[in-house]
Amino acid sequence: GSTIGILGSGQLGRMLAIAAAQLGYRCHIYAPVTGPANDVAAAFTRGAYDDAAALGAFASVVDVVTYEFENVAADALADLADRVAVRPSIAALVTAQDRVAEKRFVEQLGGRPAPWAAVADRDALDAAIAQVGTPAVLKTTRFGYDGKGQARIATPEDADAAWEAIGGGPAVLEAFVDFAHEFSIVLVRGLSGDTTSYAPPHNVHNDGILATSTLPAPPEVAAQWTEAAALAGRIAEALDHVGVLAIEFFVGADGPVFNEMAPRVHNSGHWTIEGAETSQFENHIRAICGLPLGPTGLTGTSVEMLNLIGEDAAGAARFLSVPGAHVHLYGKHESRPGRKMGHVTRVIR
Ligand code: ATP
Ligand code: MG
Ligand code: MG
Repeated sequence: GSTIGILGSGQLGRMLAIAAAQLGYRCHIYAPVTGPANDVAAAFTRGAYDDAAALGAFASVVDVVTYEFENVAADALADLADRVAVRPSIAALVTAQDRVAEKRFVEQLGGRPAPWAAVADRDALDAAIAQVGTPAVLKTTRFGYDGKGQARIATPEDADAAWEAIGGGPAVLEAFVDFAHEFSIVLVRGLSGDTTSYAPPHNVHNDGILATSTLPAPPEVAAQWTEAAALAGRIAEALDHVGVLAIEFFVGADGPVFNEMAPRVHNSGHWTIEGAETSQFENHIRAICGLPLGPTGLTGTSVEMLNLIGEDAAGAARFLSVPGAHVHLYGKHESRPGRKMGHVTRVIR
């Protein structure tokens, strides 16, 4: 097919559409009724992510559908999948949109999350704290991103405040991991099952929001690369995944600790636009369109990606005069604290 449907109009969808255009594809974006859509050279359908009729209309004008975020209603997507190929599969989306389902699934494949307990209601939280211990992190099972829907629990006395802070359950309680480093595996699996992945960036988060991704990662990360990449491969295989799959890890004392996964292109892969031979966006498009995957090697000796968070275009302009800096602005109409407005990548050759 020659028209790609993208569910979601954020920066990930925008960068996917740019990569698709380079390969000669047209894009049709499905975006929510409310909120501004990022302007890309693409057609739009407006609707809600659980609106089966609007999604059906969308399905009729595209040849393959992909998504840039996880919070699409699975049943509405199932209707869509009856009419047009959805890649990655709904199974990947359903697993990744629920932290409890995701952890169970990954544990079956030999992955090791931090000790955790499902928390259905307020009473279950006390039992979970007794089981998992403190310090711990309470997270809503669904809809969290950029550290939203999370609260720290330093001592059992924090339970009420944390429960209130996340707006109640269902939730999951995780032991707090006292890590020195975080990293991610960004993998891409093609339509015929061929799989490749990028070198793992060292990711630094501030207030739960990704701040920087740096390559090559320090030796502590490199030492856990093989094991983490093997788990990512098993996850992709088990889901019969097509497209990019990103897995976040903490460097643990006894090997990689699984944090979470995303069945889509990922912020910790933005460095690949200039820093890798084929970007994650192009490789995702190649995968969902059944094309051969492109090479993933670095284009330089080191790469650094910096997120522009809560900055306006004027603030980002200072990077335009930095030699070797590639400035990406997402065209969002309004800057807010904590909002990802763009990113800058620097490749040292
Ligand atoms: P994303 O935008 O990546 O989807 P998210 O809202 O799903 O973020 P997480 O990845 O669960 O959030 O957590 C965000 C960050 O908070 C992590 O990258 C890490 O820095 C910190 N964090 C989360 N869980 C833990 C934990 N159990 N122990 C220590 N730090 C944690
Ligand atoms: Mg997440
Ligand atoms: Mg995360």
